[in-house]
Amino acid sequence: MVKRLVNGVLSDSEVKPTHPVCVFDIDDTVLTHHGGRNTRRLHGYNLYRWLLAKERPRVEIVFITARHDSKDGEARREAAADLESVGCSQYSKLLLMPPGVRTDDGVSRWKHQARESVRRGGERLLLTVGDNWWDCTMDARGAGKRLARTADPSKYWVGNCSSQSWVSLKLPRL
Ligand SMILES: [Mg+2]
Repeated sequence: MVKRLVNGVLSDSEVKPTHPVCVFDIDDTVLTHHGGRNTRRLHGYNLYRWLLAKERPRVEIVFITARHDSKDGEARREAAADLESVGCSQYSKLLLMPPGVRTDDGVSRWKHQARESVRRGGERLLLTVGDNWWDCTMDARGAGKRLARTADPSKYWVGNCSSQSWVSLKLPRL
């Protein structure tokens, strides 16, 4: 379903993004960390591979994670190594959250702003993927958070839940 929607946007003559950008969350989206090791989360990972295989137009992948950045660069190195360990080493940007962001509202706001910053030429993002609603939608007045609290966390959700992107995929919480 999500592939059909993405292909629909890419082939729509009125939309036709010239710089299609897809934003992925990391944890519990393309990988799951437990027992000291990373395993692929297949739905997110397979989608990532499928997008990378596209040629016309090429699709840009950006990872945006709520892991806190660190001054010594260690957090970034660890995130990059984790991605590489599951075969996700192709991306144009990896954005980590500033250390001061702590609350759910803060994370929602930061993720939203981070997505805004990667909209090339101001184009709508092609796709956003994550296991939290804040990976897909955010309303600075709290609508995103309300949605996160009321939506059934055990189900997939595919559709469009923000004017920031054409297609959103929210994975079930693990
Ligand atoms: Mg996550």
